Amino acid sequence: MAYSMEAFDVLVIGCGFCGSVIARRQAEKGKKMLVLERRSHIAGNMFDEYDDNNILVHRYGPHTFHTNIAAVYTFITQYGEWDDYVLKCATDLDGVLSPVPFNFETIDLLYEKTDATELKHRLRKRYSGRETVTIVELLECEDVLIKKYAEKLFELDYRPYTAKQWGVEPKDILPEVLRRVPVRLSYVNAYFDDEYQCVPKHGYTRFFENLLDHNNIQVELNTNALDFLKADVDSGQISFNGKHLDIPVVYTGALDELLEYRYGRLPYRSLRFDYQTKNIDSFQGSAVTAYPKAKGYTRITEYKKLPLQDVAGVTTVAYEYPLRSDGEAGDEPYYPILTEENTSVYEKYKRDAERIQNLFVCGRLADYQYYNMDAAVKRAFEVENKII
Ligand SMILES: Cc1cc2nc3c(=O)[nH]c(=O)nc-3n(C[C@H](O)[C@H](O)[C@H](O)COP(=O)(O)OP(=O)(O)OC[C@H]3O[C@@H](n4cnc5c(N)ncnc54)[C@H](O)[C@@H]3O)c2cc1C
Repeated sequence: MAYSMEAFDVLVIGCGFCGSVIARRQAEKGKKMLVLERRSHIAGNMFDEYDDNNILVHRYGPHTFHTNIAAVYTFITQYGEWDDYVLKCATDLDGVLSPVPFNFETIDLLYEKTDATELKHRLRKRYSGRETVTIVELLECEDVLIKKYAEKLFELDYRPYTAKQWGVEPKDILPEVLRRVPVRLSYVNAYFDDEYQCVPKHGYTRFFENLLDHNNIQVELNTNALDFLKADVDSGQISFNGKHLDIPVVYTGALDELLEYRYGRLPYRSLRFDYQTKNIDSFQGSAVTAYPKAKGYTRITEYKKLPLQDVAGVTTVAYEYPLRSDGEAGDEPYYPILTEENTSVYEKYKRDAERIQNLFVCGRLADYQYYNMDAAVKRAFEVENKII
């Protein structure tokens, strides 16, 4: 590499939320930061850009920021303007478009009026004081009417969607995954409930440019850190270009890759996006609509609605196809597959990583966790605090 590591106090691998937040916070403390990013752009999975229709699209899937953590919101709003944005999603239940998470409107759409009234009454009574319940709870409910409603939702949506998204039967997925999309006990129609819900006014890439704009931060794109860096568990040391490296190394890539797959590959689900231009003003009512029973794809995002963009006569939509990630080039690891077996393999990698004192792992890949963006920022705060 053209530059010498002696000029830097901390090496960061990966330029998504975790890497960039740590780089910025350390830079503010006077540390010289080198950030290596394998891709040709900053912003990790939040990367967005204008397409040929002059519509801002998120290249790695639709992203809206939502959090209840005031410190995270205060942090991100220092680096650019954010617009309030409440994401509304729909799902196609055998031709009936329902809000998702399911709410009382779903019941009105699926049932005759008398049955709908009775079901809503029973749900209110049984789960009095609660805003949402999980599908797992509803499926276990002793009230036959409620249980039947849960089974209907499960068959129309959760089962086919989960099977397609994860490539396995729901019984093989940890319950946390099924619990992620709750069922509402009201008419509230919003995908998230968090206090702060927003999108960056000028897009995520611009936001990351601001975040990384500091004299103490140097970013190198198109650079796979693992071409230079080696983590040796037995000696507890890291080397870079064959030389011992004793500065802190923040690693936000996949841990199995760093440790040369010594316990095998950690499985991920990947995604393929099929972008299409439609010469119409509007393609679908919501920014994101799920199609649990469609062949191959799980959902369609209409980007001019995320955020709202004033472009007439044309719209860009992205069909989202889940697929298995087998580590091939261009086959991005998106979602860790959180089965007990996989998490126990991950724990072995984690224990090994802990033997290297100047290695700090952080992020959705390195922690083998599904993090929303706010959780990624919070995790970055925690890890950054440990760097001396
Ligand atoms: C389809 C989809 C939609 C999502 N939507 C939302 C949403 O609406 N709201 C929300 O809050 N969250 C959402 N998320 C989650 C969000 O993407 C994550 O929270 C975020 O990406 C976590 O940031 P990170 O820094 O951990 O990882 P990343 O953003 O993936 O950054 C890691 C970076 O490390 C780089 N890297 C890896 N290995 C190397 C290496 N060897 N050398 C150099 N660089 C390397 C990668 O190229 C990558 O750029 C979504 C996730 C997906 C998959």
